[in-house]
Amino acid sequence: EPLIKLTDVWKLYQMGEVEFAALKGIDLEIYEGEFLVVLGPSGSGKSTLMNLLGCLDIPSKGTVLLNSRDISELAESELARIRGQMIGFIFQSFNLIPTLNTMGNVILPLEFQEEEPEKARKRGEYLLEIVGLSDKTFNLPSQLSGGQRQRVAIARSLAVNPPIILADEPTGNLDTKTGDYILDFLSKLHEKEGKTIIIVTHDLDIVKHATRVVYIRDGEIEKIEERKKNESEK
Ligand code: ADP
Ligand code: ADP
Repeated sequence: EPLIKLTDVWKLYQMGEVEFAALKGIDLEIYEGEFLVVLGPSGSGKSTLMNLLGCLDIPSKGTVLLNSRDISELAESELARIRGQMIGFIFQSFNLIPTLNTMGNVILPLEFQEEEPEKARKRGEYLLEIVGLSDKTFNLPSQLSGGQRQRVAIARSLAVNPPIILADEPTGNLDTKTGDYILDFLSKLHEKEGKTIIIVTHDLDIVKHATRVVYIRDGEIEKIEERKKNESEK
């Protein structure tokens, strides 16, 4: 069974009198353990697709199944609960809460799940250690560099230990060196912990980590490329 399955998915945006189709009949299945890269130029529908893959939005037409459940048929609260357990999000703009320090941002998903404060703090400490930010536990986002903010976002995406990590241009706002570090980190999560990674990007460099690449153009899948990672690429 795929973790996420899109069948003939359309997303239409109403622009005054006219309707604009941002996605036109997408069929895509995502299986456990994949490192899937969705590649496409600006305006091709990547963010729209990301929102549907992440079950943050529902399709105008077609079905999205998350763990075999049709997301269009779930109540918003139920969808939010399942999404929270299944998917960790990493956004290009980091989406950190400016008034919460590093620890507060990282353990926010645990607080939503009403985890015991002591357990949440322990998990937070562990996550900050693995992303190398223990010394920034009490810093606000404004007191961190871009790369550090992205590491906070990654730690947060791992808080509830979801099987899927969904990232939208995770290296978009970072310099090359910091971006490479973030990608290596995601790659290790995939290899060592078997996390399913989905990255939506226009950055060709990210493709070297992929087990499958989906090329999208004008709201349609142009081609899908299966890739076997060879050792020289690691
Ligand atoms: P990408 O992430 O690849 O740049 P998007 O998914 O953001 O592409 O957008 C795909 C297309 O849908 C673009 O032409 C964009 O202008 C249009 N679009 C996106 N969001 C909306 C919206 N809320 N209303 C109308 N058109 C939109
Ligand atoms: P990078 O080279 O990784 O982008 P910066 O030059 O932005 O890093 O920051 C270098 C160090 O200074 C980092 O450890 C960061 O935590 C710290 N720092 C940056 N901005 C602030 C700030 N406004 N307040 C406190 N510390 C800061």
